[in-house]
Amino acid sequence: MSPVQRPGSCSTHPVMKKILLLQTGGTIAMHFDSSGVQLQSNKWLNVLYKEIPELRQIADIELESVFFEDSSDVNQTHWKQLAELIFERRNSCDGIVVLHGTDTMAYTASALSFALQNLPIPVIFTGSQVPLSNIRSDARRNLVNSVELATHPIFEIAICFNDHLFRGSRSTKMSIGDFDAFSSPNFPALADIGIKIRFSDEIRTVNHAEAVCSPLFDDTVHVIKVFPNLNPEMLDCINLERTNAVIFEAFGIGNIPIKGRYNLLPFVEKCRDQKCHVIVNSQAPYDSVDLTQYSSGQELEKLGALSAGDMTMEATITKTMYLLGHKFEDSAFRRSFLKNLTGERSEI
Ligand code: ASP
Repeated sequence: MSPVQRPGSCSTHPVMKKILLLQTGGTIAMHFDSSGVQLQSNKWLNVLYKEIPELRQIADIELESVFFEDSSDVNQTHWKQLAELIFERRNSCDGIVVLHGTDTMAYTASALSFALQNLPIPVIFTGSQVPLSNIRSDARRNLVNSVELATHPIFEIAICFNDHLFRGSRSTKMSIGDFDAFSSPNFPALADIGIKIRFSDEIRTVNHAEAVCSPLFDDTVHVIKVFPNLNPEMLDCINLERTNAVIFEAFGIGNIPIKGRYNLLPFVEKCRDQKCHVIVNSQAPYDSVDLTQYSSGQELEKLGALSAGDMTMEATITKTMYLLGHKFEDSAFRRSFLKNLTGERSEI
């Protein structure tokens, strides 16, 4: 991490940066009542409007509601809506902050990293573990940090949470109850926020390519968590004729059972015969899948399985859906999957 002078920082720059705040729901916008934590748009807007005058010390804020959902209900339709709106607004503001539920924030940030490439502005996702309306909430800090970060010329789709900025396509939700809810297991934080903001050298600050918006996704994907005693017969119910990709959440470096009645290789053969891609990710979030090390991985590779490398599960799923959505033929899919498209995986 190297401390970076903050170009365009609000306190020193005479012209306020214009930041678009997009609301999509999540706990940040919820209220505690007798029946639990609920989304209530009117109450939320009153709470948010109270914060805006303070946020206006950092930037010129424009607020827009895109949708209002618990993020468990966010899907590719919402990704498309959000991607198109961000693309449309990319030249009329200096940065965008997206308020989003934490549960699927890493999925949306990953999906948008593929759908929206080479944006000329930062897109910072944030949310909170406790509603903004609650006195002991983490929302205010996350909101202030995100708006501040969005005033900087960083060309990333990122998640800002608990004083860290992570690349969106490298992030994952790690904790249900801790304010430090996100992590980026295989990539350094893009920035750490203390008295000063310390930016990592990995952060993208130059962007020469043309921005592209292509939010096409295909949902004919299965994710199979491998566990000891996973009965291959249980997989017979998967209609492989209608499945374009199976993603294994395998053991360790990318192993699956290959002996006796729990041997999963015949299932992988069936996938291959049905032209269904087989992708191998791991249950262990740190480090990289490598199918060359053990017999199990070698057998998988012989059958055409693809390694997800050091990608998060969120990036693996959304990248697969994105490539399928773009109807890449077999070899182009394989090449693109193994390639680093937008900073989501380390080069092999
Ligand atoms: N269920 C909420 C959501 O993802 C959780 C949160 O925002 O922290 O929308």
